[in-house]
Amino acid sequence: MLPTYNRTSIAISCDYAAQIKDRLSMFDVVLRYIPNVKIMGNNILCPFHAEKTPSCHLWDDHFKCFGCGKYGDVISFVQIYFNLSFTDALAKLNCDFGLNLPIDRKPTLKEAVEAQKRWRAIIKERQEREKTYFALRNEYLAACAEFQRLRQNYFKYQPKPDCTELHPLFVEALQNLSYYDYLTTDLSEQLSRLENQRNDTT
Ligand SMILES: [Zn+2]
Repeated sequence: MLPTYNRTSIAISCDYAAQIKDRLSMFDVVLRYIPNVKIMGNNILCPFHAEKTPSCHLWDDHFKCFGCGKYGDVISFVQIYFNLSFTDALAKLNCDFGLNLPIDRKPTLKEAVEAQKRWRAIIKERQEREKTYFALRNEYLAACAEFQRLRQNYFKYQPKPDCTELHPLFVEALQNLSYYDYLTTDLSEQLSRLENQRNDTT
């Protein structure tokens, strides 16, 4: 376990990061730091590789370049753009945007306690998101297995030309296949959305 002091400073810098991300959008940061930047349909010329057509896309809370693959939030943008460490990027944003976070001085006890509280809330939220992710993944795997089973029965119990009665497993497959087809596609889309969120925050 980390000593208390370190835990507090981790809590504090993560808390600052959360506050900075809350208060600054990707557009604020890009407009401020890239001289004469032109934003066309939320795209800009990528500041990290040479290009003639803009392929770096901006969202409120992150950017991604479809040319060189660089992506991140406002803080990682400043880190890469100015080649700074995480804490230096926080300090720069704090100073340049006049955010007044107590980054360059020792936090008061109250600030430290508040920061730890918020850090715990962030951890809890992350754990809950993980729980949702694994539950969804189990649901997806179960739906895939059911889809496979129905599909096999559909082919296995296809009615012969002279049969008068349909096999119940064939009927079951006929009734449910398209639903499970829809369900697996839908769950897999939800899963990849959650996966993207997880990648963004780890
Ligand atoms: Zn790029």
